Amino acid sequence: MIRINENFNKLAASYLFSEIRKRVAAYSAGHPGVELVKMGIGDVTLPLPQACVSAFSRAVAEMGVAETFRGYRDDEGYEFLREKIAATDFQKRGADIDVSEIFISDGAKSDSGNIQDLFARDIVVAVPDPVYPVYVDSNVMAGRSGAFRDGRYEGFLYLDSTAANGFVPSVPAERADLIYLCFPNNPTGAVVSRDELAAWVEYARRNRALIVYDAAYVAFIRDEKLPQSIFEIEGAKESAIEIRSFSKTAGFTGTRCAYTVVPRECVAFSGKDEPVSLHALWSRRQNTKFNGVSYPVQRAAEAVYTDEGQRECRAMTDYYLGNAALIRSAFTAMGYACSGGEHSPYVWVNTGRESWEFFTLLLEKAHVICTPGAGFGRCGAGYVRFSAFGDREKIGQGIDQVKAALRA
Ligand code: PLP
Repeated sequence: MIRINENFNKLAASYLFSEIRKRVAAYSAGHPGVELVKMGIGDVTLPLPQACVSAFSRAVAEMGVAETFRGYRDDEGYEFLREKIAATDFQKRGADIDVSEIFISDGAKSDSGNIQDLFARDIVVAVPDPVYPVYVDSNVMAGRSGAFRDGRYEGFLYLDSTAANGFVPSVPAERADLIYLCFPNNPTGAVVSRDELAAWVEYARRNRALIVYDAAYVAFIRDEKLPQSIFEIEGAKESAIEIRSFSKTAGFTGTRCAYTVVPRECVAFSGKDEPVSLHALWSRRQNTKFNGVSYPVQRAAEAVYTDEGQRECRAMTDYYLGNAALIRSAFTAMGYACSGGEHSPYVWVNTGRESWEFFTLLLEKAHVICTPGAGFGRCGAGYVRFSAFGDREKIGQGIDQVKAALRA
C-alpha cells in the first residue's frame, strides 16, 4: 500500500498567500467593480532589463541552429555565468569565492528548501521569527519538528526578531545545528551589520553549526558599510553557505535563475564526528535530483553583469526603493513605527492591532492588499508587510486610500 509522508500532516493549516488570495477573492466576489491596490505579495512588476532580453533571445536563436544547439550540461551551471558571479558578487568585495563553489539553480526557493536534504533528521534547526516560510516548512516535511502548537513547531529553536533587537536576532544561549538567516530580511526589511553577522559566524564555528544565509534581497543594499555577503566575514567559509537569486535583482521571478555558494572548506559532521565536505554532498544531491537551468536563461542572467545590465538593474531596484520610501514615510507620518524600506523592498509596519484585523480594515475600507505579519510567525503579530514591487502611481493611490480610511 502506498503511504504518505505523515510529516505533511503537521504543516500548519494554510499557506499565508493562499489564505490572502481566498480572502481577497471572497471580498471581490461580494464587491464586483472595486479595484484593489496590491501591496502584498513580493512579486516584481517591471519587465526584464533589455540587456537580459537581448541575451535571452540571442541564446534562443542559438538553440535553433545545429552548430550552437546545447543539450544536457553540467548541473552546476555554465562557467560563463559562474565566472561573472564569482568576480562581481564576491571577489570584487574581498570575499574569496571560487567559480567551482557556485551552483546555478532555478530558484532561491528550491535551494533554501532543498538544502536540508543534506542533514541528519535529529539536528536542531533555528529559524527566525518572523520567517520566510520555506525554511520552516521544508524541515517540517523532513520530519525535524514536533507538532504545531500556538503558532510554533515543537523542536525548532525560534530566533525572535522584534523591535527590541532591531529585528536582528542575537545569538541564542542554546545550541543550534542548522541556522537560517536572511538579510535584507523578508518580511521585516531589516539589515544586519558586519559585527552582528560576525557574532553569528563565531557562534556557528563554536558550535560546529551551519548558517544558511539567504541574500535574495542583496541588490537593495545602498549603504557600503553593510555586508552584502556572509563571506565578507572572516572565517565564514567553514560554516556558512549563501543563497542568492536573480528574481529581485533583475526581475527574474518568472524567468527563474538563482545560485548557491558552497565553499570547499564548508563541512558538516558524520555520525563518527568526522568532517564531511558539504560541497561534495550538495554536488551529489544536485546531480541526482536536478538537471540544470536552461542555456538561454543562464545567458540572460550573464547579461546582468554587463555594464548595461548593471545600469538597468540598478535603475530597477532604485525604482522599487523609491516606492518603499513613499510607503515608509507615509506610515511614519501617520504615527506608525516602521522597519525596513531603506535597504529593502519591504516595509514592516507596527499596526497597534491584530494583523489580520488590520489587513481586513485596509482591504474593506482602503481597497489595499497588504500581508498580515502574523502569517510569518508569532513575532509578526500586530505587524503588516507592505511590498514596494508595484507600480509607483498605484502605490501612491493606495497610500492616499489608506490615509483616508485610517482618518475616517
Ligand atoms: N528567499 C527569500 C527570502 C524570498 O523572499 C524569496 C521570494 O520571495 C525567495 C528566497 C525565492 O526566490 P526565488 O524566486 O529565487 O525562488
